[in-house]
Amino acid sequence: MNVFVSVDMEGITGIVHRDMLGSDQREYDRGRRLMTADANAAIEGLVQAGADYVLVVDGHGPMRNLLFEDMHPKSHLLTGSGNAKDHCQIEAADSRKFDAAVLVGYHAMAKTPRAIAPHTIAGAAVAELRINGKPHGETGLNAAVLGSLGIPVIMVTGDTTTMAEAKAFLGEQIETVAVKEAVGTSAAICRPPSATLPEITAAAKRALENLDTAKFYQLPEFQLQVDFFTVPQCDRASRIAGIERLGPTGIEVGGDSPWNKYQTLWAALRAALTEPASWLA
Ligand SMILES: [Zn+2]
Repeated sequence: MNVFVSVDMEGITGIVHRDMLGSDQREYDRGRRLMTADANAAIEGLVQAGADYVLVVDGHGPMRNLLFEDMHPKSHLLTGSGNAKDHCQIEAADSRKFDAAVLVGYHAMAKTPRAIAPHTIAGAAVAELRINGKPHGETGLNAAVLGSLGIPVIMVTGDTTTMAEAKAFLGEQIETVAVKEAVGTSAAICRPPSATLPEITAAAKRALENLDTAKFYQLPEFQLQVDFFTVPQCDRASRIAGIERLGPTGIEVGGDSPWNKYQTLWAALRAALTEPASWLA
């Protein structure tokens, strides 16, 4: 069995504050170690359940957070700049036939209360992302695109609010591990790795063992729209091929499949986030 693992950072055991989330932050190395431990715990459960090939995609910020030298021996790690990847958090999900996907360390969508660092892909630019008119976060969006490739998401980890979001989109049957309970955007009641890591391993093992009961998040249509915070962000995003402008801050992402739309979405977000060179400003 081939399993795809996408790892974000805000929903990792013990991470509550930006001081662990950015490469220029003083506690970043602790954050990286905690992230690597949660990822490895999930991989261990997948391997126990019979996974032959596990591709781990580092999906946070610089996308090279996971400590390669400490990774589970049965894993393959896709690490490296988001600028070098077309599909970022789910890069290479089309590189072979994956039987299942696991989302580790995920966070709630933009505008969610009582959640650690809630945002949707690009917190500085995206006010709201909608699929078929309904706001989606990264869990729902990535699950929908993976579902379009025939890959069911079988497990998600993160804070309690994010686990509720995962169940609302993917169904009550999904395996979840709530590693912390947020009291605000940068504070949570946390359980230590000695408690959460065995749970993550057990849940991942159960999830893959019960793969025949997994549900696909497959949508009959995939209308993808984004609202930006500012008009200049929307101006820049609207110059990308395949983007249709809907209003001062709104776009619709075109494409002939969810996978292609996801690629165009990232191109639009990169453009929205990139300030022009000084001579063009
Ligand atoms: Zn992140």
